Amino acid sequence: MSRIVYVNGEFLPEEKAKVSVFDRGFLFADGVYEVTSVLGGKLIDFGGHAKRLARSLGELEMNSPVTEDELLEIHRELVKRNNLEDGLIYLQVTRGAADRDFAYPEGVKPTLVLFTQSKPGLANSPVAEVGLKVISIPDIRWGRRDIKTVQLLYPSMGKMMAKAEGKDDAWMVEDGVVTEGTSNNAYIVKDGKIITRHLGNEILHGITRAAVLRFASEAQMHVEERSFSIEEAKAADEAFITSASAFVMPVVEIDNVPLGDGKPGSVSRRLREIYLEESRKVAL
Ligand code: PMP
Repeated sequence: MSRIVYVNGEFLPEEKAKVSVFDRGFLFADGVYEVTSVLGGKLIDFGGHAKRLARSLGELEMNSPVTEDELLEIHRELVKRNNLEDGLIYLQVTRGAADRDFAYPEGVKPTLVLFTQSKPGLANSPVAEVGLKVISIPDIRWGRRDIKTVQLLYPSMGKMMAKAEGKDDAWMVEDGVVTEGTSNNAYIVKDGKIITRHLGNEILHGITRAAVLRFASEAQMHVEERSFSIEEAKAADEAFITSASAFVMPVVEIDNVPLGDGKPGSVSRRLREIYLEESRKVAL
C-alpha cells in the first residue's frame, strides 16, 4: 500500500516523491532528523522533538524550512492522510541541493522530508516482556553525538555486529565507559538507583530520556546521571534503554552475562508503564 509522504511543501504518494541527486543529505550526510512516535493517532512528545530539531539545525548553521506550528500541522496531516494509528513519523531536514562543495553553500533552500511507518501495537511489543540482549562495542563515532545527524553508518554496523552474535543491540564504550546504545540511551539499575550517562557532546540528548528521568524523579525514584563501565553494568540488578520508538525497553543480558534473574527488572517495567501512561495523557 502506498503512503502519502511530505516533500518540500507537498503531500505526495511515495512513488512521486523526489529529492535531488545533488542534495547534501545524500552527498555529505549534511542533514538532521527526528523520529516521533504515534500512539492512538496522537504524537508523543512532539514539543521535545521540535525543540531538539531546532537545536540540531542551529549547531549546523541551518535554517528551519518551517515554523514549529507548521511542523505540527504537517505531522498531523500525515497521521490523517495515512490513517496512522500506531507507528512513527520520520522527519529529515538537509541543507539542500547545491553543486558539490565541502563548504556550506549560501542561499540554498533546505530540504524537508517526512514519512510515516505504521507499527500496529507499537506500545505492546512482546520484546518488552523478554528484554534485549546486548553486546558492547567500541564507540568510534564522531565527537558531536548531541547533534542528531543522519550519519548513522556506525550505529547500523553496530546492530549488524550484535545480530552476527545472535543478540539484539550494542552498547558503545569509550574511554572505559558506556556512552549509549546504537539508537537509544542506556541505563543500569543498582540497589534501586537508576544510573545513566550525564549529558554532553558524547551522547544524544534523548527526548525519551528527559521524560523518563522526570517521571522517575516524580515517582521518588533515585536517579544518578554519571558514567558507568561495562563491568559495573554487568554487575547491575537490571538495565534498560530508552528511545522514541522503543519507549523504555528492558535489557536482560550484557556480553553474555545475564542481569539479575535474566528477566526484565521491576524498575524497568514500572518506568515503561509510567512513561506510556503519562505520555499518552499529553499526546497531541
Ligand atoms: N541515542 C542515539 C544514538 C539515538 O539514535 C537515539 C534515538 N534516535 C537515542 C539516543 C534516543 O533518543 P530519543 O529518546 O529522542 O529517541
